[in-house]
Amino acid sequence: MASSRTALVTGGNRGIGFEVCRQLAAREYRVILTARDLSKAETAAHSLVSSGSVLGAQLDVTDAVSIRSLVAHLARQRIDVDVLVNNAAILLDEGTDIVDLEIADLRSTFETNVFGAVAVAQAFVPGMVARRYGRIVNVSSEAGQLASMGTYAPAYSMSKTALNAFTRQLAAATRGTGVLVNSACPGWVRTDMGGAGAPRSVQEGADTIVWLATLGVKGPTGGFFSTRKSIAW
Ligand code: NAP
Repeated sequence: MASSRTALVTGGNRGIGFEVCRQLAAREYRVILTARDLSKAETAAHSLVSSGSVLGAQLDVTDAVSIRSLVAHLARQRIDVDVLVNNAAILLDEGTDIVDLEIADLRSTFETNVFGAVAVAQAFVPGMVARRYGRIVNVSSEAGQLASMGTYAPAYSMSKTALNAFTRQLAAATRGTGVLVNSACPGWVRTDMGGAGAPRSVQEGADTIVWLATLGVKGPTGGFFSTRKSIAW
């Protein structure tokens, strides 16, 4: 069914974010494909023109000025964001022991994976609440599950746990407003981050994210999903 909704994806220039843009465009969402480098956003958006309506825009999720500029740019064009996919993330500490973890790496991981997602959501949630419609997907990871947490990439894993806590907070704060907020785990996916040996394709990795981005009015909020099923926190 054709959609008149607009979706904004962070880190949309490559990997899972790019595929989410492609799938949403194919479902007739107008897609704002954002990347921290404007030329990469424009090149990626241009490569999707045959899939649908995709606009490239600059957004570094760690930069408050960049977020404000994008909000102003969209307002000038009278574009309302109905769907936000907080996909951008960094993984700096694979193979690092928690005892040796550089606090600077912990800090920069949280800046992107947690504070960035919170700041971008804060920019768009008030409009969603006012219009009584919103879908927010925080792209998380099984690495952030407390239930099974081990020693893998401590900064990255803790950042995804914190992102999941943000999902719970925002879902509770927006309950009953028409805004649905969920975390998605894409699984282990063949991207620059996941590596060539990962078992899942980007199409498979994007599936649950796109499902949550396009939920109907009775869809869940405040959940954590993988392969479209609820998983433990
Ligand atoms: P990726 O290939 O490394 O791509 C990461 C994307 O995030 C890139 O577009 C990158 O932009 C962007 N990014 C990083 N810092 C940013 C910032 N400050 N502002 C804006 N964009 C920024 O990663 P991926 O595998 O597609 O992962 C996408 C999401 O899935 C992430 O949240 C990741 O944690 C999650 N995930 C992935 C896997 C996996 O196996 N791949 C598993 C579980 C969860 P640049 O090109 O400018 O660097």
